[in-house]
Amino acid sequence: MIDLRSDTVTKPTPGMRRAMAEAEVGDDVFGEDPTVNELERLTAELLGKEAAMFVPSGTMANQLAVRLHTRIGDELLTDAGAHVYGKEAGAAAALSGVSCRAVPAKRGIFTADDLVATVRPADVHHAPARLVWVENTHNVGGGSVWPVETLAKVSRAAHDCGLALHLDGARLWNAAVAAGVPEREFASHADTVSVCYSKGLGAPVGSALAGSKDLIVTGRRFRKQLGGGMRQAGILAAAALYALRHNRPRISEDHANAKALAEGLVELGAEIDGGTVATNIVRFRTPGVDAAGVSAGLRKQGVALMVTGPNAFRAVTHLMISATDVATTLRTMGEVLQSLRPAGMSRAVAAAV
Ligand SMILES: *Cc1c(COP(=O)(O)O)cnc(C)c1O
Repeated sequence: MIDLRSDTVTKPTPGMRRAMAEAEVGDDVFGEDPTVNELERLTAELLGKEAAMFVPSGTMANQLAVRLHTRIGDELLTDAGAHVYGKEAGAAAALSGVSCRAVPAKRGIFTADDLVATVRPADVHHAPARLVWVENTHNVGGGSVWPVETLAKVSRAAHDCGLALHLDGARLWNAAVAAGVPEREFASHADTVSVCYSKGLGAPVGSALAGSKDLIVTGRRFRKQLGGGMRQAGILAAAALYALRHNRPRISEDHANAKALAEGLVELGAEIDGGTVATNIVRFRTPGVDAAGVSAGLRKQGVALMVTGPNAFRAVTHLMISATDVATTLRTMGEVLQSLRPAGMSRAVAAAV
């Protein structure tokens, strides 16, 4: 199966499994797991923060950030496509009593002016804005990357308004490679940063929250409240450390594969959301062709995509997708599209197959 649904579908490689099996471990709730401690040290260093904390998921890292920066009744400002806004099962409201309000954005990226126009004055009718939230790379935005300068301006505007800024960097590793800017430069504009080891880096489990020592000390108590205190978690941290050391340097391959996939899809008559692919996420449409039918046809031939709308798909490259897999996907896509004989696309497809 060529599984392009998500970069979360990767499985630990033999080298990663060896690192997990051989990990030195201890009770991490006592702070005694050397492998977790090493992962937290390296993550804090890469992000230029005082401290980092290993957590089971990106959602928990994000929700700890919401909890740390807000009080019940506060408001969080982000774009409407953000993971925290729509894909965390309402956790900001359920766990921290926080509502979200949307800042207008393009492909998930907003400007300091957009933010300032969204912040409302103190008024008895208004939930007090407390936290600005930036996602980089932006998933719904098609893997888009925030320009560092835009982020710096948004951060200055947020702080000028007395708001904290959290960076959801589930795929910050991809943003850094695409922009040619170290992770810590993006992170320097944020009070807290979440990162995932379980997406493009290929670890089976795990994320981290990074920030000041004080915030992370309090965060460890909130993590315990949520049931995220893990014991011999070094088994998992070893996979994340392996991923940082061995898989982070190869992320550019995923971006090259995503670009090749997008170019091939355009030749088959598909339209790429936003016109371009910045990292490892390809969101595209097949105008006039039913996505469910295409998806079913592809599945029969061993290719899996995520259907995101009546004519819309998401494909994500990752360390288990090779350039050959991309070529196979395109060939199969051409055959499936031709077999469905869509009115609007048949000529382009016929020419390309
Ligand atoms: C995947 C993801 C998360 C959450 O990660 P989980 O580990 O699945 O909880 C948060 N933010 C973004 C942008 C993501 O893509």
